[in-house]
Amino acid sequence: RERAVERMRADFVANASHELRTPLASLVGFIETLRGPAADDPAAAQRFLGIMAEQARRMERLIADLLSLSRIELSEHQRPTEPVDLSGLAAQLAAEFEPRIRAQGAKLELNLAPDLPVVPGDADQLAQVLQNLLDNALRYGRPDGCIRLSVQPAAPGKGWPLRPGLVLSVADDGPGIPREHIPRLTERFYRVDPGRSRAAGGTGLGLAIVKHIVSRHRGQLRIESREGEGATFSVWLPLQ
Ligand code: ADP
Repeated sequence: RERAVERMRADFVANASHELRTPLASLVGFIETLRGPAADDPAAAQRFLGIMAEQARRMERLIADLLSLSRIELSEHQRPTEPVDLSGLAAQLAAEFEPRIRAQGAKLELNLAPDLPVVPGDADQLAQVLQNLLDNALRYGRPDGCIRLSVQPAAPGKGWPLRPGLVLSVADDGPGIPREHIPRLTERFYRVDPGRSRAAGGTGLGLAIVKHIVSRHRGQLRIESREGEGATFSVWLPLQ
C-alpha cells in the first residue's frame, strides 16, 4: 500500500513536470527565434508573441489548478460548515457562464427546485465544482447543444445515501464518454483525448479537484454517460 502511494506521488510529479515542460519548451524556442531569425520581422514577431502568451497562460492555469488541488487536500479532513445556498450559487454561476455558452451557439437550461434548505459547505469550493463541470460541458459538449444545470432534493431510490441531501447536476448532450474511461476520469491528468483537452484549455485536473471538494464535503460524485448521448455529472451533498 505504501509503495503504491509512493508510486502515485512519483507519477504525479512526473506528469506535472511534463505538463509544465511542454509550454516552457515552446516559450524558450520562440524567445530564441525572436532574438535570432525573427529579430527583424515584426509581423512574425507579433504572431510568435501571440503563441507565447497562450503558452504562458496555459502554464498559469496549470499552476493555479495544482495549488488549488494541494490547498483542498490540506483541508480535506476538515468538514466545511458555512451555510451555502446551492440554488443561489448555481444561479450565479449560470449567469456568469451564459455569455460564453451563448457565444458558442449552445444554450443553458436551469432547473432549480424552490425553497431548498442550505447545505453546510464552503461556498468558494462549491462554486469551483460548478465552474469545472460547466467548463467541461462547454468544452466537450455539442457546440450548439444544451447544457442542463439542476439543483434538486436527492430523490429516494436513485442510489444516493439515505440521509437527506441535495443533488447538483450538470448534463450535456455531447458525444459522451466511452464506458471504460469513466472510472478513471477523476485521476489527475487523466484525459480521454489529451490533444482535445489541451486545445480547449484543459489542465487535466478539473475533475480531480471536483472529487476532492466533494469528498471534503462528505458527498458523492457520480458520472453517467452513454456514447453519443452526452454526459451527466451529479454531486450529492448531505444536508447535515
Ligand atoms: P480537462 O482539463 O482535461 O478537462 P478534467 O479533469 O476536467 O480535465 O476532465 C478529464 C477528462 O474527462 C477530459 O479530458 C475529458 O476527456 C473527459 N470529460 C470531462 N467532462 C466531459 C464531458 N462533459 N463530456 C465528455 N468528456 C468529458
